Amino acid sequence: MPPVNVRASSFFVVAGACRCWHCGHETDVYVLGVDPPFTRRNTVDPWQDGTRPAILAYIERLTDSVLNRLPQLAPRYFCDSSKWHQRPYWLNHCRHCAAKIGDFEIIEAAWAPLHPSRNPSGASEFTRIDEPFEAAAVAHLCQDKGWDNMFARLGPQDTNKQRSEA
Ligand SMILES: [Zn+2]
Repeated sequence: MPPVNVRASSFFVVAGACRCWHCGHETDVYVLGVDPPFTRRNTVDPWQDGTRPAILAYIERLTDSVLNRLPQLAPRYFCDSSKWHQRPYWLNHCRHCAAKIGDFEIIEAAWAPLHPSRNPSGASEFTRIDEPFEAAAVAHLCQDKGWDNMFARLGPQDTNKQRSEA
């Protein structure tokens, strides 16, 4: 299992939708992400503070507490083999035909509904979970202010709330 390279005090789940490449029907899809404060690193580089919200792609490792919540938060998002990525990772599966729908189609492609550098107009639901989060993943920093607006609507993380109340 690859080492943890993303750590946060909470995480979020974004729901969206896309057309299944296999059966052609629209299906719900999900991505996980983190927003500041969080830390991340590339391989053996020093840990860095995340300065922008980040969408996590090609997640190869998650903590048990997050795993326990996933079936409810992100149905049909589970670890599976991938020819594209060459290693198993957490990816979406079509609601209708169970085909694998990879992170390239959801996050990285020009047409991706939850692309971190474009307005998240394809997002239908944001959920924040105030639980410690650790993952091995590729963190794509969100470069569109539409994402910041979504997080502003979500409200501060619990740690921020506690700080302001202290
Ligand atoms: Zn399908």
